Amino acid sequence: MSKTNVYENVKTQFERAADLMQLDPEIRRILSTTANEIVVHFPVVMDDGHVQMFTGYRVQHNGVLGPYKGGLRFHPAVDIDEVRALATWMTWKCAIAGLPYGGAKGGIQMNPIQYSQKELERITRRFTFALGSNIGPEYDIPAPDVNTNAQVMAWILDTYLSMMPPLERNRCVHVVTGKPIESGGSLGRDKATGQGLVYIVVAWAADHDFPLAGARYIVQGFGNVGSWSARLLKPYGAVLAAVEDHTGAILCSDGIDPDDLAAYVRAHGGVAGYPRATAIDHHTFLSTEADFFVPAALENQITAETAPWLRVRLVVEGANGPTDIEGDRILQERGITVLPDVLCNAGGVTVSYFEWLQNKRSEFWDLDEVDGKLYKKMLSAYRKVRDAVKEYDTDWRTAAYIVALRRLEKVYKERGIFP
Ligand code: GLU
Repeated sequence: MSKTNVYENVKTQFERAADLMQLDPEIRRILSTTANEIVVHFPVVMDDGHVQMFTGYRVQHNGVLGPYKGGLRFHPAVDIDEVRALATWMTWKCAIAGLPYGGAKGGIQMNPIQYSQKELERITRRFTFALGSNIGPEYDIPAPDVNTNAQVMAWILDTYLSMMPPLERNRCVHVVTGKPIESGGSLGRDKATGQGLVYIVVAWAADHDFPLAGARYIVQGFGNVGSWSARLLKPYGAVLAAVEDHTGAILCSDGIDPDDLAAYVRAHGGVAGYPRATAIDHHTFLSTEADFFVPAALENQITAETAPWLRVRLVVEGANGPTDIEGDRILQERGITVLPDVLCNAGGVTVSYFEWLQNKRSEFWDLDEVDGKLYKKMLSAYRKVRDAVKEYDTDWRTAAYIVALRRLEKVYKERGIFP
């Protein structure tokens, strides 16, 4: 499916919610488009001495609630429309989570497994240099996303600080979040997206007579979000029946131990070949009978083609944009509830906000404090969306958008449009 559709998807989702809540037409016009789009082409010297050109992006969708915030991904499918869509989702996500941030996203179009660590470091540093003052600790704050991690954030931090005058440097540690702990990261940031997702599942399950003990579920993607979600669901007694990632899919009816699988994936780069499960194909994976499905990989996985295959009651979106418009419609027709990405995966950016606050105040919070604050934020977002589901008699995605749009509309009305 073409990537243009991802941006079309987010626009269609937006229009639906804007119609239902009767969003002010002027504000609808503002939010229908991105604010700034930065595209940089930059050269990097490879290990063998030759020079390769790369294309990097940073799209800032809306900044009315605060500094732009959102991850950077390194993936061959990164292009301007994908980044526009992801930036727009960040605006809604930050608004729903009650954070003082606007939405942004960026990335480099490339396949990171083709490069050595040293090359990845030079690519990251040169990209940071190319972005220059388009990012900044009180302006636009990147974070990890697909194929980027704490190490990549440490390289961005170091490059950014090296470009600052010495007396400014210690005031800029919050230019990125998701950093390694020793370099100013926060405890609990690594697991935060999975932790937030689990808080949402637990809250929804309690409201819907859906016991998690013994509930069977399947996960697509076993990177940061998929693996942490599964590991954190384990204490609730939920049974991981099948997992799929870019290397293949596996099934074990008796349940897969998420910690054991996470250790295997760390050592082998993917779930393929995991000895305590059976290899299955994509269709068998998606049609596994289970209670819920956590897509935690890329966009456009639940579509007109695949939505009819699912045999679950609930979809909990860990990835950004895993369900396209037709997929959503089919799931709704089939009575399958979808808890949307902009609610379920907001835990990552929420703990990014906590990291940013700790950096600004030169504080270091313990894990209980981070988890407790995350729980409060996620529960408050959950309740707002749940109430909007009832108030507007609509699906959870549209309700989540309405929560975001109400907040943005209020701020625009208070502040007005310059000049
Ligand atoms: N990339 C993550 C997301 O999609 C986290 C963003 C952040 O922490 O700023 O929400």
